[in-house]
Amino acid sequence: MQAPTIGGVTVPRGNGSTVVRVRRGASLTDFADKIDANPASLVQVLIHLGEMATATQSLDEETFQLLGAELGYVVEVVSPEDEEKELFSAFNIDLEAELEEEGEEDLAARPPVVTVVGHVDHGKTRLLDAIRNADVAEGEAGGITQHIGAYQVHTDHEGVDRPITFIDTPGHEAFTAMRARGAKVTDIAILVVAADDGVMPQTIEALNHMQAADVPIVVAVNKIDVEGANPQKIRQQLTEYNLIAEEYGGDTMFVDVSAKQGQNIDALLEAVLLTADAALDLRANPDKDARGVAIEANLDRGRGAVATVLVQSGTLRVGDGIVAGVAHGRVRAMLDEHGNNVHEAGPSRPVQVMGLAAVPRAGDTFIVAPDDRTARQIAEKREAADRQASLAKARKRISLEDLNDALAAGKVETLNLILKGDVSGSVEALEDALMQIDVGDEVDLRIIDRGVGAITMNNINLAVASDAVIIGFNVRAEGQNAEYADKEGVEIRYYGVIYQAIEEIESALKGMLKPEYEEVELGTAEIREIFRSSKFGNIAGSIVRSGEIKRGSKARITRDGVVVAENVEIAGLRRFKDDVTEVREGFECGINLGSYNDLQDGDLIATYEMREKPRD
Ligand code: GDP
Repeated sequence: MQAPTIGGVTVPRGNGSTVVRVRRGASLTDFADKIDANPASLVQVLIHLGEMATATQSLDEETFQLLGAELGYVVEVVSPEDEEKELFSAFNIDLEAELEEEGEEDLAARPPVVTVVGHVDHGKTRLLDAIRNADVAEGEAGGITQHIGAYQVHTDHEGVDRPITFIDTPGHEAFTAMRARGAKVTDIAILVVAADDGVMPQTIEALNHMQAADVPIVVAVNKIDVEGANPQKIRQQLTEYNLIAEEYGGDTMFVDVSAKQGQNIDALLEAVLLTADAALDLRANPDKDARGVAIEANLDRGRGAVATVLVQSGTLRVGDGIVAGVAHGRVRAMLDEHGNNVHEAGPSRPVQVMGLAAVPRAGDTFIVAPDDRTARQIAEKREAADRQASLAKARKRISLEDLNDALAAGKVETLNLILKGDVSGSVEALEDALMQIDVGDEVDLRIIDRGVGAITMNNINLAVASDAVIIGFNVRAEGQNAEYADKEGVEIRYYGVIYQAIEEIESALKGMLKPEYEEVELGTAEIREIFRSSKFGNIAGSIVRSGEIKRGSKARITRDGVVVAENVEIAGLRRFKDDVTEVREGFECGINLGSYNDLQDGDLIATYEMREKPRD
């Protein structure tokens, strides 16, 4: 490989037929990784070619081809779908051919799958609740009791019982994250707009995302019970965005509802069915091995990996061998949203699946594999590919320390933050204070999401998608989530005092972050039972979950991911009758936290020490 100079920078060159494969939506940094070049020099090369791009911006195929031609590479842009196809064809599975071979007689109507989107506080969550409660079949089934990530309701439409499937995660973020992985889940979107508020930034954002994905929209004009609500104004405002109400000669159905009072929910469901029937041909073959998408998944202490999957075609049965993303296994049991066991699930049916050996991600596709061996091998191949991709990623996400370099290299113009806190008051206060930092023109500070509660997989996914840093204010990412953030190279900064957060972010923005101490986790233990002893004080009977617990170290106590105490000392440590200095992972022990006594079963004790962070 030669290394000639183009526009003043040196870049490794291909020989004119060297093939470089990049994923669709890849950036210069991704490409740089593949050819072992410096992303900043590729920015220079592009400028030389008359194209402006930052290192992390995703490039279209044309720009890659232009760049490739200049540098002697043939750039092949592969979509996630193509990658899947290649993987499957190695196992003689061809999902496209399967679809092509299906004739009219094989296809049966399937229910529409709906996602609820719109601006924050316009009533998405409330609407999903109202729809759940309006289910005509609810009486018999005992109501929807389980949050499994999706649910199906039944509605009477022109004398026919018609099911509709709802994705139970409101907002377009999850939708877009899944789409980024190549999963198309949603058939129809309900865009919620509060009649007392009007079209807001996220209304437009959601609308753009849906229109980009060609998903038909039904508008729910919500909160019509509020005095001064003006549903007509919403219709007017939305005409600007090509959503023209039927009554004005357009083809978008607008339904005025009150999620709070359960008003007009039937009409909304009716509008969804009418729109589906008019705009879409929703059919699938139920008589084959199931294919679909994982919508939500978690690791349950008692039940192992639990995944909610949406069957898109075929029928999923208990006993089927499946592979979902990097997870494989045999369906041991399936539950519906009522908590009832189901034995089979056809197209558009969401079910919770037990029996996978690992936890798939939301948006991972799943298939029933011809045999267990194939399922395992597909999962392993995907895992290997994932590992590669995350190695590449871990190097390039943004952190506060390298913010200034990234700015200088033109990699970022915006510091994206996600704020999570224990109570909404502190999140708001933090947001207000952050927005008041004067950062000058070079860099823009954007808070792209905020919320109350522990740092979730969704937060981390959003950080991945938008190169954001997550701020945890008295809340933490735990277990699997912390590992995931680590793996994806997402930086999470923890604070307990607002001014400290402000100070650090301000210094990062000004490129003055001082070397500092970093917290290194030593071990975690979970409290199983509390023993009250008059001699020793409270003893927390615990099991060490990771690392080691050492006597004398500092600890933090969290309850369901929320910090309840900081800076507590492991004052005493016992195994059986003996005082010990340390206890390793997997062992039980008694922990005494000195005078700190507010403990409950299930609390997590995490010990840590402060180490000076090396500067690079
Ligand atoms: P989301 O952020 O879009 O999920 O919004 P929520 O569903 O959390 O609703 C935000 C607030 O608006 C809550 O306080 C709801 O009780 C309230 N809300 C939602 N729908 C209605 C409605 O139809 N009428 C009235 N008056 N309030 C509503």
